[in-house]
Amino acid sequence: MKNCSATDSLRKDKQVSRLIDQPLSPLEQFVRDYAEARSGAWDQIEPRVYDLLIGSEITRVAFDPEALPEHPQAQLASLGSPLLDGLLADAAERWRCARFYRIGLNLHPHSLDSRFRQAISLSPTAIANIRQVRTMNCPQALFWFKATFVSDQKEEEILLMGIDLHSLREVRHWDLLLASSGLSELPEALLPEARHAGIIAGYRCARDRVAPTVAALANTRRREWSSRVATQIQRMSAYYSRLREEANEPVRNGDDVAAPSPIAARREAIDREERLRIAELRQKSALRVQVKPANLMIVQLPKLLMSVAITDKNRPVGQLEAVWNPLSEAIEAPACPACGQPTFTLQIYRNSLGCASCMESAG
Ligand SMILES: [Zn+2]
Repeated sequence: MKNCSATDSLRKDKQVSRLIDQPLSPLEQFVRDYAEARSGAWDQIEPRVYDLLIGSEITRVAFDPEALPEHPQAQLASLGSPLLDGLLADAAERWRCARFYRIGLNLHPHSLDSRFRQAISLSPTAIANIRQVRTMNCPQALFWFKATFVSDQKEEEILLMGIDLHSLREVRHWDLLLASSGLSELPEALLPEARHAGIIAGYRCARDRVAPTVAALANTRRREWSSRVATQIQRMSAYYSRLREEANEPVRNGDDVAAPSPIAARREAIDREERLRIAELRQKSALRVQVKPANLMIVQLPKLLMSVAITDKNRPVGQLEAVWNPLSEAIEAPACPACGQPTFTLQIYRNSLGCASCMESAG
């Protein structure tokens, strides 16, 4: 009966729990967070006893050994228990995620109009009119990657790549973004979230951008490590050359000089072994690179999203979305209405708006 109702409520609402006065232990909090992070659910049956739904499996878990006689099917969740060790190991394997709000920014800059005119170069006859300004949270996704370089030795590098999920552009000022006094778990003001591409698109973007850095790091190591391998191969070749010289010396059996054919056979065997050993050494020292996501931080950064109408000789030529970034205190390069590429220079051609290269190809 209890099982049935527990399963039902797990399906209905993963946050369902009874009101319990006891404070949560860190282990209980971890298990709840873990179940939610795995898109599962938890249900508190009684203080310190839970049903966990992870994947397709429901497990009854007791944080208190004294609860075990009453719940004989429950597994004990204490530090060092196989259940918790398994969950901790799995959580450590997966990447970690933290969420913050960037606070302490000036969201009311003076004269946005003139700042826009200074930042964006338009045709002399064109006029920009800011129609609407909305302050919205733009999620900034910071991905930490762990790159592992393995040959006969192993080295690791941690690389950070930040992507603005609203524009899918690289975050240039992440040191400013992460200033510790400016991060809070709670927002300063409740703001709507700007339309954005989502974490998966952001991850793909970050991975593509971090790849050239990883390739450069791999090439540096390949150069350094291969010169060491070359020295080893040289030493090995010298050793086999000595062996070949010794093989050339005729073996005396009493007064008879040995026939030349066994010498050739010995030399061939030495050559074969040398080729094999060098190939083995090269294989062992070939550089392999593995890149894995390690951590993710989402920082909600408030920005001013402006809708700008552009007119030329009193005729409307287009609408532009411009962004004021309070962190860099600058207008970000708007996307060209024609090709979507960021640009600070917009031109007007045949009553439409575009960047220099779009206008060139249109002309
Ligand atoms: Zn363009």
